[in-house]
Amino acid sequence: MQTRTGVRSERVAAMQARELARFAAGHARSASLRERAKASMPRGVPMSWMESLYEYPPVFAETGAGSRFRDVDGHEYLDMYLGDMSGFCGHAPVPVVEAVGRRMAEGNHFLLPGEDAIVVAEHLAERYRLPQWQFTLSATQANTEVIRIARQLTGREVVLMFDGKYHGHGDPTLVVLEGDRTVPELQGLPGSVTGQARLVQFNDVAGLEAALAPRDVALVLTEPVMTNVGIIEPAPGFHAALRELTRAAGTFLALDETHSLVGAYGGMAGEFGLATDFLTVGKAIAAGVPLGAYGMTEEVAARSLPAGGHQLAMGDAFAEIATGGTLFANALAMAAGRAALTEVLTPQAFDRARELGTRMADGVREAVAASSLPWNVAQMGTHAYYGFAPVPARNGAEARVNDDPDLRALMRLWMVNRGVWESGWWLGPTVSVAHDEADVDEYVAKFGELLDELTHPQR
Ligand code: PMP
Repeated sequence: MQTRTGVRSERVAAMQARELARFAAGHARSASLRERAKASMPRGVPMSWMESLYEYPPVFAETGAGSRFRDVDGHEYLDMYLGDMSGFCGHAPVPVVEAVGRRMAEGNHFLLPGEDAIVVAEHLAERYRLPQWQFTLSATQANTEVIRIARQLTGREVVLMFDGKYHGHGDPTLVVLEGDRTVPELQGLPGSVTGQARLVQFNDVAGLEAALAPRDVALVLTEPVMTNVGIIEPAPGFHAALRELTRAAGTFLALDETHSLVGAYGGMAGEFGLATDFLTVGKAIAAGVPLGAYGMTEEVAARSLPAGGHQLAMGDAFAEIATGGTLFANALAMAAGRAALTEVLTPQAFDRARELGTRMADGVREAVAASSLPWNVAQMGTHAYYGFAPVPARNGAEARVNDDPDLRALMRLWMVNRGVWESGWWLGPTVSVAHDEADVDEYVAKFGELLDELTHPQR
């Protein structure tokens, strides 16, 4: 049957069966490690996503260098997924390897500040244009703390986000729309999450205005460009309206650059010149060593974290916003962050990688045109997305309608079987600062071969 995507569904099913068999035959050692792991870890993996993020059995990884990594069966993969953007510095970037080795040898954790923390905070202030910074171990935790600060300062509870968003696995953000009802996204969450969150379609200014009107929204949390349902670009004027409406409603604004930081040296907020109360980052800022961070204005910092928070009597409630953790801002993470931000993620590295991003997006676009498939290709700097519809989605609702999970799953599997680690979960391929032209050309050539096979089964 011909589908909306232009690819016949029986073709997808036939290729999927063949590719799964090919995958199983080539990954015997991963399969046997997984069997052993099942005795000590549910699903045979140390973290459930390492199974659920992929449509094929988990591959056990061994080593990585630059744009590639190897698995225990001896396959080498050209990495276009970058560990969901965390690997944007490339695998084993030398400045970070050296900084982390040095730091480990000299002590990695003191629960005290060190000079690296100042360098990183100063750097982030300049790069992302907010003056005051705090650190966590992940972007999820950075968003969690920003939500708590916004709730405390406004005395409101609701967090407004855009349909199709992802901001981490913190309770307040794990809601989705079912029709026009907000429901918990996963199990194990309190029912109250749905009353504390509101979802609106991206680019819908009237919907946003109506959702802010009750003046019960503490924070709007959004990416500058949505990246977790393909690439959804802000329509002209949308960000200006968002800033104006949040100010008018007494609502804080947080821009989550965890993914979109790969788009431009100063993030997409910098690219668009956006003003914000908070900006959150994580993943790639320390080359995948756990480090999350949030920036805020002087005013927010002064009101939320005034000097002199001291614990009182044992077990008492005390007047301080719930932030922090024993391992947060540890010396190892700060050393990795310093090296990654100042020596790897440089303006020159971004210039180069963005050129490669354009080469990749153009190449994918040409392959799509050559196959006559009714698909579009969107680009955000180093990152691209092929959508199974003639024009890019303008919001999460449109993106969902356009998607075809079976086709996307097959494309990933086909690529893995040919040495390309394709991205998943509505993300699209990204070039890291360690990729080169040959990597991009290899990706584009394989992508073209795949489209050819999808559309010309007789060949
Ligand atoms: N924000 C955004 C925009 C993300 O895409 C993600 C992860 N995909 C997160 C936050 C959470 O990152 P982490 O899982 O590293 O906490």
